[in-house]
Amino acid sequence: MKILVPVKRVVDYNVKVRVKADGTGVDIANVKMSMNPFDEIAIEEAVRLKEKGAATEVIAVSCGVAQCQETLRTALAIGADRAIHVETDAELQPLAVAKLLAALVAKEAPGLVILGKQAIDDDANQTGQMLAALTLLPQATFASKVEVAGDQVEVTREIDGGLETLSLGLPAIVTTDLRLNEPRYVTLPNIMKAKKKPLDKVTPAELGVDVAPRLKTLKVAEPAGRQAGIKVADVAALVDKLKNEAKVI
Ligand code: AMP
Repeated sequence: MKILVPVKRVVDYNVKVRVKADGTGVDIANVKMSMNPFDEIAIEEAVRLKEKGAATEVIAVSCGVAQCQETLRTALAIGADRAIHVETDAELQPLAVAKLLAALVAKEAPGLVILGKQAIDDDANQTGQMLAALTLLPQATFASKVEVAGDQVEVTREIDGGLETLSLGLPAIVTTDLRLNEPRYVTLPNIMKAKKKPLDKVTPAELGVDVAPRLKTLKVAEPAGRQAGIKVADVAALVDKLKNEAKVI
């Protein structure tokens, strides 16, 4: 069974992002970029399934600019067998990515597609669900445990107030939550090995997908700055402030 893992290149989670002065988006010039953390978890899970003998090949795919190949090399260093770069300079929205992935699902026929539950840059949380809709495959989102048994996959999901376990027929789409696993450290020998693994390039046009944006961003704004806190002398002063300044009691 093949496992397809889409990995997105995003602003590193340690970077404090700045909104562009004209409010059209976030400034990503000279900013550290990394693999979306939920996608690192997805690659780790796919590699573990292969190590357990439940999968035979792990294919990483990234859609976007030329530098996405760095993200793919990281995926190969974690343990993916080969990579596909869908190269485009166009702005990609979740529906466009889902269509590109659907075309790759038709071509590669994976038994499982494991995506991140969301990309930490746009926080859309849409691509996995849209891919399931486009391919008509069963989906389990927010996975905290994934077990493959024969032609079924059992997925434990984190839901409000507890856990839900679903059984899906393969092929299926799964999206990862934070507690699914802890991705391994990428070692230098594996980074060296990753350089020799196959990385194919394809364009959206070759996959027959129109990636033109369907949504228009009207404005991006910083959240209002938080005011510094103060220390109050005693409980009476606290109650007074809550009542008369914050007006919450
Ligand atoms: P989103 O719906 O944008 O929050 O993204 C959810 C997941 O879809 C990510 O964690 C990735 O697994 C996948 N994904 C989104 N955009 C891309 C992309 N440009 N290339 C590869 N995978 C992507």
